[in-house]
Amino acid sequence: MNRLPDEDEFHREAVAFLDSYATRRSDETGQAVWGRGDDRVSVVAERAEGEEEEIARLKDYRAALDRVRLAWIDGPAAYGGRELPTHYSTGFRELESRYDLPDDGYTRFSVSTFCPALLKHGSEFLKQTYLHRLRSARLLACQLFSEPGAGSDLAGLSTRAERHGDGWILNGQKVWSSGAHYSDLGLCIARTNRDAPKHAGLSTFLVDMRAPGVEIRPIRQLTGGASFDEVFLTDVYVPDDHRLGEVDQGWRVVVDVLLNERGAIGLESGIDEALLFRLVDLVRHTGAAGDPRVRDALADLHIRSWAARETTTRLLAAAKGGVPGPELALSKLILVDLLRRAGDIASDVLGTAMIADTGEWGTFAWSELTLGLPGLRVGGGTDEILRNAVGERVLGLPKDAR
Ligand SMILES: Cc1cc2nc3c(=O)[nH]c(=O)nc-3n(C[C@H](O)[C@H](O)[C@H](O)COP(=O)(O)OP(=O)(O)OC[C@H]3O[C@@H](n4cnc5c(N)ncnc54)[C@H](O)[C@@H]3O)c2cc1C
Repeated sequence: MNRLPDEDEFHREAVAFLDSYATRRSDETGQAVWGRGDDRVSVVAERAEGEEEEIARLKDYRAALDRVRLAWIDGPAAYGGRELPTHYSTGFRELESRYDLPDDGYTRFSVSTFCPALLKHGSEFLKQTYLHRLRSARLLACQLFSEPGAGSDLAGLSTRAERHGDGWILNGQKVWSSGAHYSDLGLCIARTNRDAPKHAGLSTFLVDMRAPGVEIRPIRQLTGGASFDEVFLTDVYVPDDHRLGEVDQGWRVVVDVLLNERGAIGLESGIDEALLFRLVDLVRHTGAAGDPRVRDALADLHIRSWAARETTTRLLAAAKGGVPGPELALSKLILVDLLRRAGDIASDVLGTAMIADTGEWGTFAWSELTLGLPGLRVGGGTDEILRNAVGERVLGLPKDAR
């Protein structure tokens, strides 16, 4: 039986580990220190260069977390978790934001979106085989949902999976698959029954991204990076024990994945303490701290982001570890608005230093956030789709004309 450490004890243990592993970006009070550590502020796009090194750093970090049992603080012990209450885990994330740690964008889908779906819908074999390895980043996963002809209307997809001996043969094309080029596993939705209504004839599979017939082509994006890909599947064999959920019931898995994704984007890519402190520090550094307009915008952002974090935490707590409801669409909508406000303040005080790299620490780095925002408005459900979800499924308004 696990002994539950009290919160102070856990905090000391977490700080001791983080101090031994990484450099603090902030002082004891959480205040960022200008010029210290990596000056990255982006929460929406990976970098154009140095991706392999960053992934190697992240894998090393998550392996270290795993050794001290911090890789899955609130997860089930049977799959490598520590079974502590969820607020220990959110507290640890808050602490992490004070340190110079590798970009965890590369594991965000595996850890926060895929693992919960695997826990809920996976067979015991899949859970034993993959959960611990995904949480400790020994394996990375990506999402193979969108297609050239199916995005918002995902159930209209045309990738096919046909029975073949003990498994399935997949054929089709996926697009906008974030991180497909560095992933080991892909969570893929495909049509298994062409006679059923469109939502009822789909199944989900775990595809080995290095299997014969999987071809990955990077897509260059506005930020200069290529964090997502086109994925072509040609006669790709997937054993039946790598099917997630029942045959033709894959839509249930998809709905859970998308809900978790919105929560994860809202909570984990959110405006954390570190980002706010960085912004305050930027304002001071550029000499704009005395400007009442800027002070007002900063205070407003702080209040809004605090309220947003509390709202998302409350929605997740209400789900009691299960899959949250459609209200979570709000988290992502609010996040996009907050990041736009943060970007506006940064560009206001930086002026041309936002668009021309002077090489000065902590200035041009803000441009990546602004350039990544249009993508964030679309990925994980567009603003329009999320507003419809909130209107129809939360507020009970009449349905939008389809
Ligand atoms: C940064 C990023 C990362 C992504 N990562 C992944 C990934 O890892 N895996 C993956 O499978 N996909 C991924 N996507 C794809 C993403 O899920 C889709 O782009 C998204 O669902 C929208 O689909 P679409 O691009 O086909 O646009 P469309 O669905 O064609 O929408 C076009 C426009 O029409 C609007 N619209 C569509 N239907 C309605 C409606 N009923 N009511 C009102 N307005 C509507 C939309 O809001 C949008 O403005 C990613 C996208 C981005 C930008």
